[in-house]
Amino acid sequence: MWIKRTEAVVAEEQRRQRRSRLSWALLPGAFFFLVVLFLRGTAEAARRGEWTVPADELLRRVPIALLAGGIIAVICYRAKPKPPLMICPQCEATKHHDGVPICSCGGRFEMIETMKYVSQPHAARGDIHANEKQAP
Ligand SMILES: [Zn+2]
Repeated sequence: MWIKRTEAVVAEEQRRQRRSRLSWALLPGAFFFLVVLFLRGTAEAARRGEWTVPADELLRRVPIALLAGGIIAVICYRAKPKPPLMICPQCEATKHHDGVPICSCGGRFEMIETMKYVSQPHAARGDIHANEKQAP
């Protein structure tokens, strides 16, 4: 059965997801930083006949490379993920958030990140807080 998580656990999960999104945004940002730092644009490369930037020009390109990588990282970080997944605790139906909170079974959809699955119904009463930290 599905039961509500505590607010502290939900908050920790949201922090973990933000850190994860930040890590994934920094990867493409770092990639673009390196590309802009070390490689010339196609027009400039065609004119000069070489794709790579010589060592004595690297320092001059750091600010623009940082700017390009930073913009890409911000875009990736702020990109809208899919609507959050929701679950009906009564019938266990899932769907992405669509603004309709009532399930066809009469239950009420909850954000899945605020819920956790427990195999024993009696776990919902007393020992749930002791087990909360072990949730994946
Ligand atoms: Zn339902």
